[in-house]
Amino acid sequence: MDFVEQLKSSIDIVEVVGQYVRLRKAGTRWVGLCPFHTEKTASFGVHSVHQFYKCFGCGAGGDAIKFVMEIEAITFYEALKLLSERYGIPMPKRAEYSDPETKLRAALYHMHEIAQRIYRAALLSNAGAEARAYLAKRGIEPAVAEEFGLGLSDRSGQALVREFEKEGFTQEQLEESCLVVRRQERAGYYDRFRGRLMFPIQDESGKIIAFGGRALAADDQPKYLNSAESESGKSLYKKSRVLYNLHRAKGAIRSAGRAVLVEGYMDVIGVWAAGVHEVVASCGTALVVNQVRAIKRHSEKIIVNFDPDEAGMKAAERSIEMLLQEDMTVRVLELEGGLDPDEYCKAKGAEAYREHVARAPGYFYWLADRARAKFDMRTAEGRIEGLKFLLPAIQRVPDKLERATLANDLAGYLGVEAGLVLEHFRKSAVERREKPLPDAKEPLRHVERILLSAVLASPEVRRAILPRLKLAPQLEQFTTRRIFQALFAIEESGGELRIADVQGRLDVRDQDLLSELLFADNSEEGEYTLEHAEACLVSLEQAGHEARRAALKARIKEAERAGMLEEALRLAQELNRLERA
Ligand SMILES: [Zn+2]
Repeated sequence: MDFVEQLKSSIDIVEVVGQYVRLRKAGTRWVGLCPFHTEKTASFGVHSVHQFYKCFGCGAGGDAIKFVMEIEAITFYEALKLLSERYGIPMPKRAEYSDPETKLRAALYHMHEIAQRIYRAALLSNAGAEARAYLAKRGIEPAVAEEFGLGLSDRSGQALVREFEKEGFTQEQLEESCLVVRRQERAGYYDRFRGRLMFPIQDESGKIIAFGGRALAADDQPKYLNSAESESGKSLYKKSRVLYNLHRAKGAIRSAGRAVLVEGYMDVIGVWAAGVHEVVASCGTALVVNQVRAIKRHSEKIIVNFDPDEAGMKAAERSIEMLLQEDMTVRVLELEGGLDPDEYCKAKGAEAYREHVARAPGYFYWLADRARAKFDMRTAEGRIEGLKFLLPAIQRVPDKLERATLANDLAGYLGVEAGLVLEHFRKSAVERREKPLPDAKEPLRHVERILLSAVLASPEVRRAILPRLKLAPQLEQFTTRRIFQALFAIEESGGELRIADVQGRLDVRDQDLLSELLFADNSEEGEYTLEHAEACLVSLEQAGHEARRAALKARIKEAERAGMLEEALRLAQELNRLERA
């Protein structure tokens, strides 16, 4: 067995997908919200017997390796490596897996590991005294600094360059790493981060893909500097895909049933140290759709807790909009005294912060306050502007009754007529519809469904049934005939049956048909066995027999009428043989 098959047979796709998507068992299948498109009702299924996933909304589908490739945005080889490491299955060192892209990325991961080691060592060395004093002043315990892998970049700008040159990284690797910068005036490179407190940024699997650096000297600009994305797009860091701390927080997000979104690294660390572990940050940029989906895979509830300054408020507004678009349940936490989350935890204590998180009000009231601050509510124009500002947010409220109540509240709050609010509402009412996981009852006939289920379920049934089924004339009328033809071909080639191989032989329509059948919930009817399949086959054969006899009789009559007696006699003999058989 080759390594890919060995890996796939030793992992369970339900477990692999379950690390990224909340799945619930429904009969013989597992279902959840698709991580690849936005939806409210689950059209995403994972099949534990045949080890594949399928989304009936957006069409995404494949095996465990494909899933990891898609969700982590990594290459095939990297997905193999990630799964083999996660499940402790040793991977053979063979060159055929390393295409140039994978080789480059492997080097980039390695460079980030080296950088992390250097930064970390520098923080703990004599040269790190000032940075350690800063951390102590910010109330970050050494154990927390270690947990978050905090480090220090050397002022000389040569620490990484020297090490990378010693390791012999190529020019392309140096440039794509975005950890060093090419000199303008002469040959060579220098370190991108110099004299900064370093925060490693990890992807969802926990691999370091970038760094954030905070200036330590007052006159160093900018205050925060992040890894860059290279122009070629080959760098590991894609800022729109990364949420700071998600790999650490995702378990807590699931068990708490909510995520807390803050602005910066320090906030994450402060809130985490206060014991609220379901905390993530958007790495200093406005939240984008991929980041929202990454959170939503673990919980639909989120509490936004940004800095209380104007920039933070604006970022919160934009983030709320994005979160609502993706159907998240949003609450906003505003802390008293104009404190950011980190400051608040330090000043008022973890317990007070946790209480605030638990009591955070719905986003709507926060937005209404924003509207009142932004627009002049004393004038009619200002009130209309305020209404327009708030309408999109109310329309996102999924519950009709709640929406009507909010519209009423809003009218009172802004001092406009309730009728006016409702009219604006009606004008832009949006109804969304989604395709739920299909039942797969139609257009499959009962016989086809039983035969296919039984045949897919066991090699014994395949051996007994497929050769006989192949001769059944009714096969031509089967909706599933191309699926069976694929099965005949695989059975004849003597290969093991893998759903991916069957799918590979089918066009998209038949692939979907097969997926639907596999995801159909047959739990009430139970598993189909050889006996069921035999019974179907016998009834098909009898019906076929009957049809052939009827056809022969008709032809005999026709021959007699036409006076072709010799032909009629020959057909009568054939009918005789058939009836005796
Ligand atoms: Zn989908």
